[in-house]
Amino acid sequence: MTVVPSLVPSATPRSKTPGAPAIPRGQNLIGGGFCDARDGATLPVIDPARDRLLTTIPASGAADVDAAVAAARDAFPAWSASATAERADLLDAVADAIERRLGELALLESLDNGKPVSLARAVDIPRAVANFRFFAGAVRHQQTACHPMDGDALNYTLRRPVGVFGLITPWNLPLYLLSWKVAPALAMGNTVVAKPSELTPLTATALAGILQELGAPAGVFNLVHGRGHEAGQAIVEHPDVRGVSFTGGTATGARVAAAAAPMFKKLSLELGGKNPTLVFADCELDEAVRGAARAGFANQGQICLCGSRILVERPIYRRFVDALVEEARARTPGDPQDPATGFGALVSAAHRDKVARYVALARRDGGVLLCGGRAPELPGELARGAFYEPTVIDGLSPASETATEEIFGPVVTVHPFDDEREAVRLANCVRYGLAASLWTRDLARAHRVSAQLASGMVWVNTWLLRDLRVPFGGMKDSGVGREGGRFSLEFFSESRNICIKL
Ligand code: NAP
Repeated sequence: MTVVPSLVPSATPRSKTPGAPAIPRGQNLIGGGFCDARDGATLPVIDPARDRLLTTIPASGAADVDAAVAAARDAFPAWSASATAERADLLDAVADAIERRLGELALLESLDNGKPVSLARAVDIPRAVANFRFFAGAVRHQQTACHPMDGDALNYTLRRPVGVFGLITPWNLPLYLLSWKVAPALAMGNTVVAKPSELTPLTATALAGILQELGAPAGVFNLVHGRGHEAGQAIVEHPDVRGVSFTGGTATGARVAAAAAPMFKKLSLELGGKNPTLVFADCELDEAVRGAARAGFANQGQICLCGSRILVERPIYRRFVDALVEEARARTPGDPQDPATGFGALVSAAHRDKVARYVALARRDGGVLLCGGRAPELPGELARGAFYEPTVIDGLSPASETATEEIFGPVVTVHPFDDEREAVRLANCVRYGLAASLWTRDLARAHRVSAQLASGMVWVNTWLLRDLRVPFGGMKDSGVGREGGRFSLEFFSESRNICIKL
């Protein structure tokens, strides 16, 4: 076993396309040591903006997962008995280390995912820091319940760690979403086996390196790279994994739930969305246009909370849509590693093709493309990249496939509505229920409409404003359970009530 010596491009490339930055080969972290897959199998890690090989990671299988779960199980007794302050201090130290390496980690995230390095610097990495700091504080200050019974007895509730957790994360916000699970899981005294998406494994490897450098006890955090249906499935099916926190697509979530349910594992499912943006005629128009464009196109539309179904009250429909198209056109795809770029590549060529298929469906169904709808022509190596222009589609039925299915790319559809009732009906008529944003200056309407939206989260006159204490999660096909603040602390623990007769 060897220790990954550096988080970032080093002088000696081990595996790369000529001209690509030298990134050390990714390895698993099992029981405190870095290692390859037992059978030596690897997967390529591709930079989607230039279609070049960056490095490789282990293509782990059930035997690797078994070793990682065994290490996590062995580490559990000591870690779960450790002092809360010790665990919180480790999380704070991780936050500090990530913050010190913000630039390096943002570059890795951008190379791996195609997102603008400016976005990774401003959002992904700072939010990973915030997650570690927040849960360090949350566990230090957590409270438990006490229920006195009129002098007869006293109940108090303890929260105890569960055991080994499997943490499975997607490619769109790699370190940000991994830290959202790792921090509360470790804070509560569990040990973990994490599997990041095979498409974006670099910052998870970097996090493993940070935990090693900080002296995290062996086996407390284990990392297993590999394909979802192999390594991911093996984690979910492992009988010694007592809980699974999964973020990803709805179809995969259904497979995870089917495998985990017969073993009565604790399960949190954060799944897909097709989120509505509701724009009322009394809104602050410029702010609503900017907000809707950000909600539609941030991270190239690859955030589960993106608002891709934009409903606009008829009196302002034309003005709003014209201004939205201008905003979309201003987002010119460019080199993600250029600090001036605001709109990067999609995560892979295969994903770009999926996005293009939905746009073709929209054309077939009578949609009118107001902008975008094609891959841009970019110079040099970027010509091979998985880019797609921000796309606004008008004239589609709100019940069409493009308007109701999750595309997870820079494509929004716009639809007029005539009154509040119709707005709510259109917002709720999809299978998903993750998030919504609504734009109005009428406070009474804001309360009234928010209460009727079938969404786990509603933003009024804003989007993606996050307070880490609030419940995060979706309803309907967008998932089961809530994470965030005390909801995460509760999910990553078991309550034990103790009743003492007085
Ligand atoms: P995905 O294909 O469902 O994959 C998510 C994770 O699950 C990946 O690590 C994947 O590994 C793994 N996986 C795949 N098959 C598995 C199986 N049978 N058992 C266990 N794990 C398995 O989703 P994605 O394409 O990476 O991410 C996009 C989706 O995530 C979108 O639907 C988006 O809305 C959703 N998302 C939801 C939230 C939320 O909070 N609700 C946040 C972000 C993203 P591989 O990548 O190696 O296949």
